[in-house]
Amino acid sequence: MEKEACNIVWLKRDLRTQDHLAFKKAEESGLPTLVCYFFEPSLMQQPDHALIHWRFIYEALSDLKKELLDQGGKLYIFHGEVVASLTKLKEHYEIKEIFAHQETGVPFTFDRDKQVQKFCKQSGIGFSEYSQDGVNRGIKDRYNWQARWQNFIFSPIIKNDISQVNFLRLGQDLLYELKGNELPKEITESHHNIQRGGTSWAKKYLSTFLKNRAINYNRHISKPAASRKSCSRLSPYLAYGCLSVKQVFQAAEQYKAHHQYAYVFDNFQSRLWWRSHYIQKLETEVEIAERCINPAFEALERNGKDAWEEAFYQGRTGYPMIDASVRCLKATGYINFRMRAMLSTFFSFTLWLDWRRLAVFLANIFLDYEPGIHYPQLQMQAGTTGYHPLRIYNPTVQSQRHDTEGAFVKKWVPELNNVPSPQIYEPWKMTKIEQVFYKCEIGTDYPQPIVTFDEATRKHKDIYWEFRHRTETLKQLPLVWEKHCISENVEEYKKQFKVRIID
Ligand SMILES: Cc1cc2nc3c(=O)[nH]c(=O)nc-3n(C[C@H](O)[C@H](O)[C@H](O)COP(=O)(O)OP(=O)(O)OC[C@H]3O[C@@H](n4cnc5c(N)ncnc54)[C@H](O)[C@@H]3O)c2cc1C
Repeated sequence: MEKEACNIVWLKRDLRTQDHLAFKKAEESGLPTLVCYFFEPSLMQQPDHALIHWRFIYEALSDLKKELLDQGGKLYIFHGEVVASLTKLKEHYEIKEIFAHQETGVPFTFDRDKQVQKFCKQSGIGFSEYSQDGVNRGIKDRYNWQARWQNFIFSPIIKNDISQVNFLRLGQDLLYELKGNELPKEITESHHNIQRGGTSWAKKYLSTFLKNRAINYNRHISKPAASRKSCSRLSPYLAYGCLSVKQVFQAAEQYKAHHQYAYVFDNFQSRLWWRSHYIQKLETEVEIAERCINPAFEALERNGKDAWEEAFYQGRTGYPMIDASVRCLKATGYINFRMRAMLSTFFSFTLWLDWRRLAVFLANIFLDYEPGIHYPQLQMQAGTTGYHPLRIYNPTVQSQRHDTEGAFVKKWVPELNNVPSPQIYEPWKMTKIEQVFYKCEIGTDYPQPIVTFDEATRKHKDIYWEFRHRTETLKQLPLVWEKHCISENVEEYKKQFKVRIID
């Protein structure tokens, strides 16, 4: 019997219907199109993925399912491996083409996409992947990248008409074969402390940010408590494509034209530029999810104690701002940029531990885990690029400046609830009487600092700088710049770099 011809829209980190080239191709093709998402067991077992992500994805898919249904469409959610499922589908349909977005991920997802590509080639199926983040596949340097990004971000948003898609509906038998096991309840039930997935929620966050919350964006961006309201909080929605970066950028552009706080939106848009810039780094060199950007740093051994690492993960280092940030992240999946940077430099320089271990820990508790931002940012903070200025954040200074009354610390470290400022910044300096008075005995109720910040950081910084100035490290820099730096900046880097070496 002749098989029915069809196309497939394979959704991954592009969980929306607008500004969506894969859907546009489906609309134009007229062929019956299967729209599907795969919860892949092998990906779900990867150490950098956690329940928090799958729950967000499930919510986003539920939202999308409803949106499609309202327009006569159908979304299939399978719990199974992609190639195995496609093989089964191929037994029943003549698959003409698969439309998907170009995912910039870790080596595991890059390899998965290559396997799909191989399967398609062997089966005579077209496989078209579309860029969605202003990121270019296959480039070896950054010549003209800036201009290309500008063209991309101001180019028209794709207007999808989902009612034009000829949705394929699977028969019950095949559906039963493909569906896979029920997803566990922990994934299908929401968590009240954490941002909910889906385009509907993304639009609410965008709209309240542009209309009200952005007013304090610049003023509060570094404050761990206030930034929760004044920053856009769009990161998980961008990470899973509930809105595209272009949709967000252009919404801000429109808003800025009528707003007295235009400079705030400029600052916000510059973050969206950073987003693409970092994702491009991983796209260009996927190995940097596992290897130092400057490969010479592989020889730098960071051998901090296991006990320090464990205390960090538990939020029990004795440094209130570190502990509050870790505990807050674990409970809510979010912390602002500065605190992320502080956690990274504390882990890499104060505790002298390898950035790769932190990468997995944070990926698991960041709701917005975006590999393309995550690994390059962590490496920059850990100094393993070998050319970025080194900024080490002192947790005590951060709390003095950005949590002046200690409200953020008290919320997440209730052991310190009765401790007033300024004692709350450095509780280990409290006298015995103060400890009794404030009901917080250091070493019993709240830990002594696991290391002395100044001493440990200085010692490790010295080792680091010596290593950074070694010939083998310096020799790698031109290659790193060529691959990862905006070409316009490379000459500037060379100049700065000379000055630093003479130092
Ligand atoms: C060690 C470390 C790891 C990080 N890992 C991630 C990650 O996995 N996923 C992630 O989305 N962000 C990551 N960031 C960047 C940044 O902290 C978050 O994007 C930001 O805090 C998200 O909050 P927001 O959406 O309110 O940001 P806003 O300030 O409102 O910015 C808007 C958007 O711009 C992008 N953006 C903001 N800051 C940066 C930045 N510094 N670099 C690149 N893009 C940026 C994000 O997509 C963000 O949603 C990391 C930063 C550090 C220091």
